[in-house]
Amino acid sequence: MIQRSATLGDLELTPLVDGYFRLDGGAMFGVVPKPLWEKRAPADERNRIRLGLRPLLIRGGARTMIIDAGIGDKMDARSVDIYAIDRARHLDHSLADAGVRIDAIDVVLASHFHFDHAGGFTRRDGSGALRPRFPNARYVARTAEWDDATRPHERNRASYLSENFLPLRDAGVLDLVAGDDEIMPGVRVVRSGGHTMHHQVVMIESGGRTAVFAADMIPTTAHIDEPWIMGYDLYPMDTLAFKRTFIREAIDREYLIFFEHDATVAAGYIREKDRRKFVEPVISD
Ligand SMILES: [Zn+2]
Repeated sequence: MIQRSATLGDLELTPLVDGYFRLDGGAMFGVVPKPLWEKRAPADERNRIRLGLRPLLIRGGARTMIIDAGIGDKMDARSVDIYAIDRARHLDHSLADAGVRIDAIDVVLASHFHFDHAGGFTRRDGSGALRPRFPNARYVARTAEWDDATRPHERNRASYLSENFLPLRDAGVLDLVAGDDEIMPGVRVVRSGGHTMHHQVVMIESGGRTAVFAADMIPTTAHIDEPWIMGYDLYPMDTLAFKRTFIREAIDREYLIFFEHDATVAAGYIREKDRRKFVEPVISD
């Protein structure tokens, strides 16, 4: 497959793929009834819908950066079955297609620490020890998200697997930022909350244009309508509030949106016609 990129001023944005997985369709669409969501995302015999795992590579700036790193290769057989994890084509292939060596990544930025985003942050070496997956990278995350991930409760414990992030601290490669900071020129994080209290999206600005890595705030193109909010979200009313403002802005200012979990569309513009919203794909499988 030919991997496509989008150019934004000086920056080249390349959606990568760490394979595909499946989650319960009802959980993915919260209060939306199945007869409505299954038109957008057909369910399999276990009621699961197909999702992508799409970290974003940013080149051409001060650093070579990726945002999130997929689900990784540490999931056990039971999880591979439950989540139908298909990594026939994964992040290594995707980076090789983009012509980027693993050791060329300088910065790994986390939207949040759930396993389908942070799984690829670490790997096991030959002796079974957990190591940072990108040997020359600093890993950047939000302080309060780190605090939540390292002190989980009953509702989020299954999503925060410490093997994905504690080895980063132990290796001394973790940089925590407290607020909506610039991570490198043209790339800044904005807290959306909603999915987790400190979930963040990434605003990328160059050449007078804006792209946004929306992570789990708008995980797929099926989630562009405001009330289509995941049942997984810990604070769904915060997701709603953020989406109300954000989606209006994205339409009016023509933000290029990167959809981390869409099964086919990696990036596109949100458009509106006759009060109906839709996505005009720019990069898809
Ligand atoms: Zn996710």
